[in-house]
Amino acid sequence: MIVVMKSDATPDQVEKAMRRIESLGLKPHPIHGVERTVIGAVGDERGKSAFESLIEIEGVENVIPILKPFKLASRELKAEPSEFNVGPVRIGGKGFALIAGPCSVESEEQILDVARQVKARGANMLRGGAFKPRTSPYSFQGLEDEGLRLLAKAREETGLPIVTEVLSSEDVARVAEFTDVLQVGARNMQNYSLLKKLGKTDRAVLLKRGMMCTIKETLMAAEYILTSGNPRVMLCERGIRTFEDSTRNTLDLAAVALMKDWSHLPVIVDPTHGTGVRQLIPRMCKAAIAAGADGLMVEVHTHPEEALSDGFQALLPDQFLELSTDIKPYLAIEGKQT
Ligand code: PEP
Ligand code: MN
Repeated sequence: MIVVMKSDATPDQVEKAMRRIESLGLKPHPIHGVERTVIGAVGDERGKSAFESLIEIEGVENVIPILKPFKLASRELKAEPSEFNVGPVRIGGKGFALIAGPCSVESEEQILDVARQVKARGANMLRGGAFKPRTSPYSFQGLEDEGLRLLAKAREETGLPIVTEVLSSEDVARVAEFTDVLQVGARNMQNYSLLKKLGKTDRAVLLKRGMMCTIKETLMAAEYILTSGNPRVMLCERGIRTFEDSTRNTLDLAAVALMKDWSHLPVIVDPTHGTGVRQLIPRMCKAAIAAGADGLMVEVHTHPEEALSDGFQALLPDQFLELSTDIKPYLAIEGKQT
């Protein structure tokens, strides 16, 4: 339900409407626009004809149902795209996140070296996994706490905000202490206790689409974070599993365009995991921008042949420089800048 307040409604009337919404067992989420305030009233609406009485409250202009199952994430509730800052980086709107770094943090020398090089070549955020969700328990699992400490050191040195993955709800506080953006990996997109916990942090969240999840399921996962109180959510298309086996995943750029139509949340594209094929990454980046992406996340390594994970798909720093230069005209067409 969207409760649209009159443009001259007083703060007191907005407050009364919020209390009435609460008394009906719904959670009010006010959005204060320039013109007027609208209140998203979300919760279980079954058999509550009482909702229609909301129109009787003083200062309320209209009460409209939200048809999409993802209420807070939908454009029905909030027509304008969401924008927020992660450190100095603007995400959404005209802002563009260019996130680069290794798959995993491997050593102090490695992460500092990559951080300096991607910064000098146009990245505005640094990625790197300290906790790695590996298919095999025998593969490198990440440096864990030491990795977090090294990421914080790289931020201190370069000023780049950090994006790193959190694997479980018990680790949220521990990872949040060291990072600017908490990444939810594809394998964890439907880990609802983790999502609820992320809704309670003050860190932005990068929610990766599950490799076998639909667009609607992805938006419902975002809804868990939003309804738990954290509005700073970015969606991330990282490819889905299909019958195609010439690429690691099938990068679903139609999903990017559709998520932008259905939702006000910023959408980031990860063409590295999306293709797993190094030579395709630059072209997929350009296509992602044309599809409406608000940012890109790419893996970069100074010595991919020695990488402890995903070396085969990492760009070299100079390939990243070429990419960050080549996408400029595409960003200009879309009215975006890093
Ligand atoms: C990653 O970003 O390194 C990663 C593990 O990604 P995904 O969860 O998309 O597989
Ligand atoms: Mn990786």
